[in-house]
Parts: sequence; structure tokens; C-alpha cells
Amino acid sequence: MFAYRRTEAPRPNGIPLIIDNEESIIKDNVLIVRDRSEISTDNLNKVDNIDKYKIVDRDSVVPEDIINKTKVVLLTIDDGPSKRTKEIQDILNKHNAKAIFFVNGINDKNHQGVIGETYKQGFAVGNHTWSHLNLKKEKDMATIAKEIKKDSDLIKNITGIPPRFFRAPYGESTPSIRKLVKDNGMIFMDWSGSAKDWEKDTKEKDVFISNAILNLHSGSILLIHEHPWSLANLDGLLTAIEAKGYSYIDPSNIIE
Ligand SMILES: [Zn+2]
Repeated sequence: MFAYRRTEAPRPNGIPLIIDNEESIIKDNVLIVRDRSEISTDNLNKVDNIDKYKIVDRDSVVPEDIINKTKVVLLTIDDGPSKRTKEIQDILNKHNAKAIFFVNGINDKNHQGVIGETYKQGFAVGNHTWSHLNLKKEKDMATIAKEIKKDSDLIKNITGIPPRFFRAPYGESTPSIRKLVKDNGMIFMDWSGSAKDWEKDTKEKDVFISNAILNLHSGSILLIHEHPWSLANLDGLLTAIEAKGYSYIDPSNIIE
């Protein structure tokens, strides 16, 4: 059951990794593993909306206050807006789950009003470039900058605020692209787990859910798309995540 922990990327000193009921933390370069039932419960189950989080290594969310032992995951939904966005949000709301919707501005003209509704419902709207361009393959920095700016401008025009989060299409980026994103005031984000819902066999509910919860740990960033089968399996996935004792991070509590 815990074999996969050895394959986890090592966390920086002092940042706990929580898997199921065990917590591991590196102190002075020594790995300490404890059963959570032996840890003081004072800081367990803190109310999520008062905890602040940081993105570390682009693919993990860690509490600013490392005493916080609440098991949390961050949900991210990519490639909208689409005709399924509203139903996805209905399911998220049913589970009291917040998420970041990483949108491509090019989709807005066919789904007008969806980005505004996303923001109104308390979800974060993130920049996923205007046209889902593979930025790593694009050599012209001006084109890259335009893809990013055009998406940010649209989001700002609709919601009134510029996006705080950015995800590169296909997870493809370079240090200079990441610097450009940061210089534009956004937090660059990859993911640590996904339903792999671009693969055909994830139309099967069991495959979809087991992909997504494989290696799930506190601070996981989960990637899900707006495919029909992702919508169909989302309720089951969230139920499975909650059965493992996790709650969801509100992106508005991510401070850097
Ligand atoms: Zn995408």
C-alpha cells in the first residue's frame, strides 16, 4: 500500500507529505514517518478557508503554516469553456468543492457567459493560453506572449480581475516561458495527478477514478478535462476522494 511513497519526489525540509493515515516529513535531511493518530490533534481539521497555501515545485500545494495537517487536494479543470462547464460546476457545488478552471479564450465565442458564470460561482478562472498552443514548440517569443496576454485580457474583461494562475497546454514550457508568466503576475502551475482522461480507457469509471487517486497525497494538484466521460465520472471521483478523508482547497486561499 505504501510502496509508492518511495517514488514520490522528496519534499523540501519541513514540508509534510500526508498519505492516508501516515505523515512523512524531512527534518535535517532525515525522513520521519508517523501515524497521524499519534500527532497532536490541535491542528487537525482546521477550517480550510482560513488556511493559506503556496504552490511548490509547480505541482504541489503546501500550507503556509506547516503545522496544518488537514488533508487537501486542489482540483483543476482544463480546456473550457464548453457546453459541459455548467454541469461540472453543479457537481463541484454538490461536493462543496472549489476549483481552478483553466480556460482557452478561443472557446469563449461559442460559450458566451460561461467564464463570467464560473467567476460568479466562486471558482477561479486561470489562463491556459488563447488557442491551446504548445508554447514549447513555438519559437517566436512574441507569439507566445500574445497567446498569454490575449487570454488574460479576455478573462480580465469578463471578470474584472486578471487571472492569478497559469497552466501551459500539454504541460509544455521552458524556463523563459515560466518567467514570462511570473512577470505577468501569475502563478505557474503543473499537476501531480490526473484522471489521464485523454486516454480512451478512462471512459470506464473505475479506470478514471483509479488513475486520478493513484499517488493521491495531501497537496496534490489534480488535472481533469471537460470531456463527456470526465463529466460522467466526476461525481464518483469526488466521492472517492472524500472517502479517503480529503477536502478541497479554495484557490482564493493560494497566496503564491
Ligand atoms: Zn489543455
